[in-house]
Amino acid sequence: MVADSGSHEAPTRREYVKYGGETWLDPDLAGERGGTPVDGLWLAGPTAGVESQIAVAVGHGARVGLDVVTDYRRVEEGLWVPAADHTDWVIQQGRYAGHDWLERSAEYTVESAPDELDDEFVQRKARELAKQQQDQQINEPEVERRTERAHRRLLDHVDDELIRDYVSDPDVPEVTG
Ligand SMILES: Cc1cc2nc3c(=O)[nH]c(=O)nc-3n(C[C@H](O)[C@H](O)[C@H](O)COP(=O)(O)OP(=O)(O)OC[C@H]3O[C@@H](n4cnc5c(N)ncnc54)[C@H](O)[C@@H]3O)c2cc1C
Repeated sequence: MVADSGSHEAPTRREYVKYGGETWLDPDLAGERGGTPVDGLWLAGPTAGVESQIAVAVGHGARVGLDVVTDYRRVEEGLWVPAADHTDWVIQQGRYAGHDWLERSAEYTVESAPDELDDEFVQRKARELAKQQQDQQINEPEVERRTERAHRRLLDHVDDELIRDYVSDPDVPEVTG
């Protein structure tokens, strides 16, 4: 995988290597976290020289993806590293609820800011980040909707005949939800 923010010059000839009659980006270009000396260019998976098993490539891709997001927030939004680095996940409604939670979370982010940053900017960004975290809460009906959508997507990849056999087999245990 190659992640490209599109904001850099094309790699120069010395960043390519010949292998098996083909031309590849030099895997030595990438550091441990996928970054390269070419501004805005990251490499992940076997392209970055990690082991080629899919599970390893996917994990490395996720690791590098986090750094791409962090770098974007740092450069484009002016966030300081601990704030830019924080990527949260979807969470049950109620975990991040209320004004008090928002204030505490924002305060924690403010504490990580370097002194030289403008106070008003830091306070505003910290509250925006806390609000974004709150917006990632999802309620029970939304969890159910996403679960069903995921199950249907899985079914799209299973042979229809197998699905019919499966549902008509009396020995198959019933699973709901
Ligand atoms: C023959 C073979 C057998 C393998 N067997 C196994 C196995 O049994 N188990 C296992 O775990 N791993 C196996 N692997 C390794 C596994 O396939 C790779 O590690 C994995 O696919 C790497 O994922 P990736 O996303 O980094 O790259 P890729 O899967 O190569 O995906 C890169 C994608 O980018 C696209 N692309 C390339 N250039 C451009 C461009 N300029 N613009 C837009 N798109 C572009 C390509 O078309 C491709 O879809 C095997 C690999 C090979 C070659």
